[in-house]
Amino acid sequence: MTKYIFVTGGVTSSLGKGIISASLAKLLQERGFNVTIQKFDPYINVDPGTLNPYEHGECYVTDDGAEADLDLGHYERFLNKPTSQANNVTTGRIYQNVISRERAGDYLGKTVQVIPHITDEIKRRVRLLENQSNYDIIITEIGGTVGDIESLPYLEALRQIRQEFGKNNSLVIHLTLIPYLAAAGELKTKPTQHSVKELLQTGIQPDILVCRTEYKLTKELRNKLSLFCNVDKKSVIEAIDAKTIYDVPMYMLKENLDKIVLKKLKMKKGKEPELIAWKEFLGRLKNPTNEVKIGLIGKYNELPDAYKSIHEAFVHSGAANECKVSVIPIHSEELESSDLKQKLQLLDGILVAPGFGERGIKGKIKAIKYARENDIPFFGICLGMQCAVVEFFKNVQKLAGTTSAEINPKGKNLVIDLMPDQVKVKNKGGTMRLGSYKCKITKGSIAAKAYGKLEINERHRHRYEFNNKYLKQLENSGMVPTGINPETGLVEIIEIPEHNFFIGVQYHPELKSTVENPHPLFISFVKAAIKYKASNEKA
Ligand code: GLN
Repeated sequence: MTKYIFVTGGVTSSLGKGIISASLAKLLQERGFNVTIQKFDPYINVDPGTLNPYEHGECYVTDDGAEADLDLGHYERFLNKPTSQANNVTTGRIYQNVISRERAGDYLGKTVQVIPHITDEIKRRVRLLENQSNYDIIITEIGGTVGDIESLPYLEALRQIRQEFGKNNSLVIHLTLIPYLAAAGELKTKPTQHSVKELLQTGIQPDILVCRTEYKLTKELRNKLSLFCNVDKKSVIEAIDAKTIYDVPMYMLKENLDKIVLKKLKMKKGKEPELIAWKEFLGRLKNPTNEVKIGLIGKYNELPDAYKSIHEAFVHSGAANECKVSVIPIHSEELESSDLKQKLQLLDGILVAPGFGERGIKGKIKAIKYARENDIPFFGICLGMQCAVVEFFKNVQKLAGTTSAEINPKGKNLVIDLMPDQVKVKNKGGTMRLGSYKCKITKGSIAAKAYGKLEINERHRHRYEFNNKYLKQLENSGMVPTGINPETGLVEIIEIPEHNFFIGVQYHPELKSTVENPHPLFISFVKAAIKYKASNEKA
């Protein structure tokens, strides 16, 4: 039987349930278990696809086209395994399903209620992953904080599951905060005591406490927590603030979180976690021999989570190159009126980020022109690639009225246009071109060299595309389409071969970069930035 671990959060949000879940999963995976992680989000949106990045950070996309919470990105980056639609469920999706079943008459005249109908649907979703693979352990992260109104149906479902599965087959880890009061010079346990009490009121006794803290937990403090929260002493786990999220599995290993979990679930220990690849990665990450500055041109820079996967992909590819990548966020709107040279001249590479809508586009196009003319390594992702195409037709081909239909649908030369299957789409949720598609790469291109193969699969999330009416005009122009979808003929990659390193991709490579498999395009981009920096230093 598959065993279940539930992770709840107390005291405050943003304690890092996703990272703790991913770290525990990594340790269990290293011990030889087949593990996956799912996330339940208590908001009413059916998925985060319609959420503004300022609200909820980046929208992550899975191979099978789910628009999902960014924690799924952490799960994939840690476990080096893809997630799917079933790994993220929101309250909105649960209600949507129950309501459509009600409309279909499935409830046979019964009054549809939170208990048992919503809780039954939650329980069904919890078990959905069991059919996917022979998982030994499924970790379920319950979003939100214990005490929130929105979390109540999940906690009730969890209480029922514990009853049904029994103690040996499921356990609850409660992640909480032990704040440090500078004036008293003390770590405080009271908020945790209250949060555990709150959890107890829903009928759930946590088995393990994971305590986020700025300072080490003393033995006395652990004993106090154990006594007041009714958790055995060994199950009070310290989660001290880490310099990098990638240290957390090592910290959890030291605290024996994996061993305690396995003992409580009455499972064999498996082999000792060696974490060879992980430790090698950490070694390279912490001992860089070089440093480059990459400008991240975007419009959601106020919230770094909006570009989470891009930041992490630079951590992975930086380590692969033994190079510290300093990502410098640059607001595209600021570039519209400021001195471009002053903002961009110290950069070793420029990445133009994905995005939606017209705001900030002018600044992105100006930055691309600067990168192209000054031979600075350039990497455009999704909207970044589309802007590179517009910039090229506008400033190199000198095509009047060049634009993207997203900027001006009435423009004269729409080199980027709405995909034909998007023309009639009215609903915004889940209607983009989403998920993994094949792409064929041209031999000898930057992409071919980076990937080391000519056929790839990458993830997408967009409505607009390169307008193939203008393909002919690219011939001998200096910009080359080097990646094409073999089924639809859609341009997926463009490059400027004469340039130092100039590549734009319609897909999102950042979503597939993991600790153990840093993305090849990011590795090549960082390499190009290192080379560019060295040549500048020589000159
Ligand atoms: N807004 C563009 C489109 O929909 C690009 C999307 C993106 O960058 N993810 O095609």
